Amino acid sequence: MSFQVFGIPVSRGVAIGRAVLVASSRVDVAHYFVPTAEVDSEYARLLQARDAVTRELQDLKADLPADAPHELDALLDVHLLLLNDEALVDAARQWIAERHYNAEWALSAQLEVLARQFDEMEDDYLRERKADLEQVVERVLSALGHGQNKGGAGAAVVVARDFAGEDPLLLVAADIAPADMIQFKRSVFQGFITDIGGKTSHTAIVARSMDIPAVVGTREASRLIRQDDWVIIDGDAGTVIVNPSPIVLEEYRFRQRQSELERARLARLRHTPAITLDGQRIELHANIELPGDAVAALDAGATGVGLFRSEFLFMNREGELPSEDEQFEAYRAAVEAMRGMPVTIRTVDVGADKPLDRMSVNELRHEHVLNPSMGLRAIRWSLAEPSMFRQQLRAIYRASAFGHVKLLVPMVAHLSEIKQVQEAIRRVKQQLDDAGQPYGLVELGVMVEVPAAALMLPMLLRHVDFISIGTNDLIQYTLAIDRADEAVAHLYDPWHPAVLQLLSSSIAQARAAGKGVSVCGEMAGDALFTDLLLGMGLNCFSMHPSQIPSVKQRVLRADTQRLAAAIPRIMESEEPGRVAVELLAAQRLH
Ligand code: PEP
Ligand code: MG
Repeated sequence: MSFQVFGIPVSRGVAIGRAVLVASSRVDVAHYFVPTAEVDSEYARLLQARDAVTRELQDLKADLPADAPHELDALLDVHLLLLNDEALVDAARQWIAERHYNAEWALSAQLEVLARQFDEMEDDYLRERKADLEQVVERVLSALGHGQNKGGAGAAVVVARDFAGEDPLLLVAADIAPADMIQFKRSVFQGFITDIGGKTSHTAIVARSMDIPAVVGTREASRLIRQDDWVIIDGDAGTVIVNPSPIVLEEYRFRQRQSELERARLARLRHTPAITLDGQRIELHANIELPGDAVAALDAGATGVGLFRSEFLFMNREGELPSEDEQFEAYRAAVEAMRGMPVTIRTVDVGADKPLDRMSVNELRHEHVLNPSMGLRAIRWSLAEPSMFRQQLRAIYRASAFGHVKLLVPMVAHLSEIKQVQEAIRRVKQQLDDAGQPYGLVELGVMVEVPAAALMLPMLLRHVDFISIGTNDLIQYTLAIDRADEAVAHLYDPWHPAVLQLLSSSIAQARAAGKGVSVCGEMAGDALFTDLLLGMGLNCFSMHPSQIPSVKQRVLRADTQRLAAAIPRIMESEEPGRVAVELLAAQRLH
């Protein structure tokens, strides 16, 4: 039966493929395809793991003390039964044989199928056996070694796809943490659907950086969609169509082709400088998460990196934080890749919806913090971990010997924070001088993403070289809307008069002080806001590489003088969004 699920569109385009349901707790299980020649040995690997767990459970049963409760013995029998039921491992064989999934993926896919059947059972006792099944699968997964990533760069690496005609796969999950999402870069999945999340949650941001269609905040997609269902993701409308009819499918295939043609057309702008009709040069920079993303930035024609979210280097580390040398290599790689163009490295912004996944290092588990968005996040965390912070600063300064590096500090709300950063920089430079390590000139900037920073900007500007406006958080903190909470997503409004005030005054004040200013939040990459920001006097935008062409197209058709003339009326309006669309469109040359 065909049906639709509605959510929040976060990444444009149309994706058509088969649903792969993944429980949030199992997102970090390896997902890769095995070559045809290895299908049999992969199944043998699964059988071996099953047999190992069978022995383990039999040993446990044999070793039960005489006075152990009878229930324990019965429970082990249930686990043995589930483990050896053909509905589990035999059925997982199908996933390996037909879809070429690796053993861990096949087993988790089969678990999802069975878990759903358990959920639908009338009998309470039987329904509760789902937890036992999950424990059994967990044991087999550990016996498999959780699928050590053969590719080495994350759980979702594609190792081989040497069999013809496989269908595209779309990932469906209740939730995906940003740390897990980053693992899906270069993965087998061509689209994402989650139950949870808002337009600027970090999971959505990473999905957007992958430039594949995604819909979040659907609330119940993972409950309604079944393993292997055919699904269409309309990333522009935020709609998910499950088991579409042939006519609907054809319509979306047509739209998919249209959008590919449009992208190819825009890609031709790559080498065109972003100069407005009245001759203003506009810098279009890239937001990146990992040094390898610099390739996409260059391909898209970025003239620098405006935001390197360094915290992604700190995720998925199993308790170890990256050493100074490892960080230095990552920063240097990005700096060298950008060939002299500026690379703005933001110091770690962990906390809120980006917990370090193994935060036990600093006992900062997300769940234990009352209100993580307002807690020990970003620069607050760095200043609470001074040696870790200096290590990061040393790595950034060392990388500055290889190109043009700018240092950006997130979530600043107090002047004292900047002063502490400057003190840390002084110490780091001294240490590097003592060690004879070279470094270059590094400009210092702050992110304006807390209203306090925007309201006291003239003061902050005296101490820094540039600012970068993080509209994602600026909107969150100005409107008191959790950016990751789909329940209040309808109130997350970039057109809100208070947001426009803070944006326009920040841009104007930075310019008046002769300091650099850019916007690196999601507004910068949304062509809907390009005219508005140009009219406010912005001349540096930083966004996902895939967004550069459409923003550039807007820039090329804009006259900043005429756009600026429309801004006061927009700011005075009670409906700025509507008025802006009308007024700015009238000022633009189509
Ligand atoms: C922002 O807040 O707008 C920003 C760019 O930072 P992040 O999205 O990483 O919080
Ligand atoms: Mg931010």
